[in-house]
Amino acid sequence: MTVEENVSLASLTTFKIGGPARYFCRVQSLPDLKEAVAFGKKNRLPFLILGGGSNILLPDNGFPGLVVKIDILGLEFKEEMKILEVVAGAGEIWDDLVALSVQKDLWGMENLSGIPGTVGGAPVQNIGAYGMELAKLVEWVEVYDSKTGKVRQLSVRECKFGYRDSLFKKPEGKHLIVVRVAFSLSKTARPELSYKDLKEFFKKKNKDPNLAEIRSAVLSIRSKKFPDLTRVGTAGSFFKNPVVSQSVYEKLQSEHPDLPGFPTGKGHVKLSLAWIIDHICKFKNLRVGDAIVSEKQALVICNDGHARAEDVTALAKSIFHAVKNATGIEIEPEVRLFF
Ligand SMILES: Cc1cc2nc3c(=O)[nH]c(=O)nc-3n(C[C@H](O)[C@H](O)[C@H](O)COP(=O)(O)OP(=O)(O)OC[C@H]3O[C@@H](n4cnc5c(N)ncnc54)[C@H](O)[C@@H]3O)c2cc1C
Repeated sequence: MTVEENVSLASLTTFKIGGPARYFCRVQSLPDLKEAVAFGKKNRLPFLILGGGSNILLPDNGFPGLVVKIDILGLEFKEEMKILEVVAGAGEIWDDLVALSVQKDLWGMENLSGIPGTVGGAPVQNIGAYGMELAKLVEWVEVYDSKTGKVRQLSVRECKFGYRDSLFKKPEGKHLIVVRVAFSLSKTARPELSYKDLKEFFKKKNKDPNLAEIRSAVLSIRSKKFPDLTRVGTAGSFFKNPVVSQSVYEKLQSEHPDLPGFPTGKGHVKLSLAWIIDHICKFKNLRVGDAIVSEKQALVICNDGHARAEDVTALAKSIFHAVKNATGIEIEPEVRLFF
């Protein structure tokens, strides 16, 4: 493991934004990770763990401590009865794992096709899309505890998964570094097509689609909602969709009858923030410097050239205040901000 100095971080994030890391290293194994943590502790440096950089906004003046890029690879498939356990290293590319599981005819991950980032970054925000979320597939998450130096396997319950949330985002879990994740997949077909866009996509088909068809449908739907990462910088949805009580939803709906809401149980409703930004705040195509609201989806902020982190945060603040003024709701960022 080599520690480098003053390494530019912009190219390691999908936003293509961020100044240099004072210290930077790539870790390919647990011993590498332990060495990196020991270096950071010895030099009293703050840490930043980096996966694929697809859910992160870094400051223009960089990070003053040690950035540890997780490149730990490894894939293992084990079968018992009709359940298949996949154990993947944290540095594996999430969508490569999904593609491989689809190719092997294993059910579970297909609706999560096309999400950028690594296997290790996925449990941090409990990635979700099209009616599926990571928590439903996880068996355990193996972590290196940078406080105690111990490796532990956490159960799903211990990971405290929630809507785009987990233990790893909370103060009590911030010292845990994901090393490997085990998933449980099925050889028995179990298509999850309840989500509106997928239902619509397959409405003319008179039998259930197969795994490859679902993956291809999800990729096609996503290509209309998200910009092409090879051309445009973005970290995807900048904010979480707000979850409100049924009574708040009904009040908003009385003013905006078309406001989409999805019941999440226990008397709560998830609102479409894209719809609110688009139809109530009318914020499409708004720009601060080179930071713009995506024309494909109002929830997505893009780097249209040379955006600075401060342009993105200024635009995000405008959206926050506009939504609050129009609805009374305080929205929360989905992207991790390191300021
Ligand atoms: C175009 C686009 C579309 C997207 N669509 C979706 C979507 O549909 N659904 C969805 O849920 N998300 C979506 N995202 C967000 C993003 O892809 C996911 O959150 C992804 O899981 C982030 O993984 P990463 O490896 O890139 O993490 P990073 O961005 O590198 O890091 C994110 C956070 O996780 C921490 N972290 C990363 N790796 C580890 C590790 N090994 N151990 C401990 N902490 C770690 C980092 O410190 C940081 O706090 C999208 C992003 C983009 C750019």
